[in-house]
Amino acid sequence: MKHQVAIVGSGVSGLTCGLVFAEHGYRTAIFAKEIGQQTTSGAAAALWFPYDAEPADKVVPWALGTYRTLIDLARNPDSGVSMIELRQFSRTEKIHIPDWAIPLGARAVVPSLPPVMSSDVENGAAVEAATRPGAERTGRERIRSLKIFKSGFSLRVPLMDTTIYLDYLANRFVTAGGSIAANTHFARLEDVDPKFDVVINCAGIGARELVRDTDLEPHRGQVAIVPRIKDLPYAVVCDDAPLMYAIPRRNDCVLGGTNELSNDLAADSATTMRIVTECARALKIEKPNVLGERVGLRPFRKSGVRVERDQLRNGRTIVHNYGHGGSGFTLSWGCAERVFELATDSAA
Ligand SMILES: Cc1cc2nc3c(=O)[nH]c(=O)nc-3n(C[C@H](O)[C@H](O)[C@H](O)COP(=O)(O)OP(=O)(O)OC[C@H]3O[C@@H](n4cnc5c(N)ncnc54)[C@H](O)[C@@H]3O)c2cc1C
Repeated sequence: MKHQVAIVGSGVSGLTCGLVFAEHGYRTAIFAKEIGQQTTSGAAAALWFPYDAEPADKVVPWALGTYRTLIDLARNPDSGVSMIELRQFSRTEKIHIPDWAIPLGARAVVPSLPPVMSSDVENGAAVEAATRPGAERTGRERIRSLKIFKSGFSLRVPLMDTTIYLDYLANRFVTAGGSIAANTHFARLEDVDPKFDVVINCAGIGARELVRDTDLEPHRGQVAIVPRIKDLPYAVVCDDAPLMYAIPRRNDCVLGGTNELSNDLAADSATTMRIVTECARALKIEKPNVLGERVGLRPFRKSGVRVERDQLRNGRTIVHNYGHGGSGFTLSWGCAERVFELATDSAA
């Protein structure tokens, strides 16, 4: 008989694991304190890129596995996944293109915004025509150099619009026969209903209390949501302090960011102002209106992402899947497939 599977957590890790089990025909239920936009996953910018997660020798293969699945999902506009050009810049040194990025087509770029038609700039009009792939270049275009940055590379990556993607995962999970119970808090994994013989722990930063993991650190991130920036067709990221990113989504743009050791889930308006000011300065744009602020605690684990099989005190199988730091979306499918292998013994 097939196992009955309980997943604790309904962020990107729990939903992706749930989907993998349910679509393999397992009776699967997700239990979580918070769901959807209330989770850390709901606060993420959700660009595919390994960041703030260890160790590299595991993170990179999981990330590349996820990349392949997300490319397929990007063919379905309802998934909320799309492919976008990421321009990663550095303010200080010559940027290093990671080895794993080269086969994905990464190449060095000059820090600049796309060419815009000088007449459009003068008129203050939208410049989309000039930035469309294949748009004809004319002598009246000029490159807007981003002098604040010194070097950079570019790479096409998947972007998950969390306002669409988390619902897409949840709906697909339910369609495959899964169920989701919100407002369910467990003090210990042993408290999960004994009818489930396999338990998957996707509690994110909540695993600190749930399994008393003192290795987990809250890497607090705050972002500002602003209207779409018309002449920004690609994501701009700079990891040098101060961390700065601008990620255009279908209906808005996510500006970041912060990464500090803190448990504070309240948005700080001075931080939002700092983020918006730094992004406007870097991108040479007027300060945009702020539509919203989001805060989340990246579940960073000092000894590395925990994808591991164990046994609960009452003998049930537990597979842990937490500690993804700033890469929960980037690692989601690669980790979920490994969790499935461990739980079903097919490659334990
Ligand atoms: C500002 C910001 C930007 C980010 N940008 C990116 C990015 O661009 N790309 C990327 O890949 N990642 C990014 N991340 C990181 C990413 O958001 C996280 O790694 C990811 O959300 C972790 O997902 P998760 O499902 O493991 O945890 P969570 O989303 O935190 O979900 C945990 C779930 O477990 C539940 N839970 C916890 N404890 C219990 C309990 N005791 N009982 C019951 N339920 C419990 C919670 O209610 C929740 O449902 C970003 C994070 C932040 C904050």
